[in-house]
Amino acid sequence: MEKKTAIKIEGLHRYYDDIQAVRGASLEIEEGMIFSLLGPNGAGKSTTISVIAGLLQPTEGEVEIMGYPVSTDAQQAKKFIGVVPQEIALYDDLSGRENLLFWGRMYDLSGDELQTRVDQILDLVELSDRQKDKVEKYSGGMKRRLNLGIALLHEPEIVIMDEPTVGIDPQSRRKILDSVKALNKAGMTVLYTTHYMEEAQELSDQIAIMDQGEIIARGTNDELVKIVGEYDRVELVFSSELPAKVNSWDTLPGVSQVTIEGQYANLLVEDANLVLPKLFESAGKANLQITAVNIFEPNLETVFLHLTGRALRD
Ligand code: ADP
Ligand code: MG
Repeated sequence: MEKKTAIKIEGLHRYYDDIQAVRGASLEIEEGMIFSLLGPNGAGKSTTISVIAGLLQPTEGEVEIMGYPVSTDAQQAKKFIGVVPQEIALYDDLSGRENLLFWGRMYDLSGDELQTRVDQILDLVELSDRQKDKVEKYSGGMKRRLNLGIALLHEPEIVIMDEPTVGIDPQSRRKILDSVKALNKAGMTVLYTTHYMEEAQELSDQIAIMDQGEIIARGTNDELVKIVGEYDRVELVFSSELPAKVNSWDTLPGVSQVTIEGQYANLLVEDANLVLPKLFESAGKANLQITAVNIFEPNLETVFLHLTGRALRD
């Protein structure tokens, strides 16, 4: 079967007064993919997906969902989409099941069909055993999973999730990542935003890196990592804040890039083993105390650092 384009955005701009949150983003997301939009806080991810979901009007540009332009066919386009927003919207004094029943009725589901659908969803988000408890007793992670369940009630072809694992316990995080994979295996297209490169790496068929309102790179994890070639990333952690520029480091042989942020120095280097002794020596001379050294193979974090000169990490 030929793959269709599930989501297409072209030349998207979105301002909030004079803040330019999205500046000329274009993307095509094929049906059946897990597609991650990866970028730091403030990159424009939530704004982009709010426009895709028809919750915000674009200042400029076009969005199409399964071929339907959101500008003229919003109702039709929205039917294809389930959105899991960052803010949780649940009734605390109702049980998990009652919340699902409530939202199911909003989608005109009723009777056995509704009950069966709710059972399936509770199963999928692994909340069956807690379905009778009031939501006020749920952990943050359980609320997020219930929120995901609500977005799936009308059996959308596409699910859009906005940083669904921020601030939750590792177990719920694992369950959410696993349900994303299960949904995708069952044929659903997933658009997933995150600032965790590990999640993008684990989940995605395709990744777009977003920064300051622009899509700065796009491809599979492997394609993106190839951008930085064979460089290692060395992260040095110091006992105190570093001066804005530690001069000599970027002139050391084999060092291609140096980024200083607070107590952290990140360097892209040809061979960590050759450079480290020189860095220690130089730090010692400058009376800077190194408290930890981490060496990373090239990954999405390295790519982000290479493209922007900044770390992706919080
Ligand atoms: P992300 O989801 O990647 O963190 P956002 O889309 O939330 O990014 O934000 C992009 C930019 O737009 C940021 O500079 C943010 O401060 C700004 N912004 C987001 N929402 C609003 C708003 N409602 N009013 C004004 N500025 C906003
Ligand atoms: Mg956001």
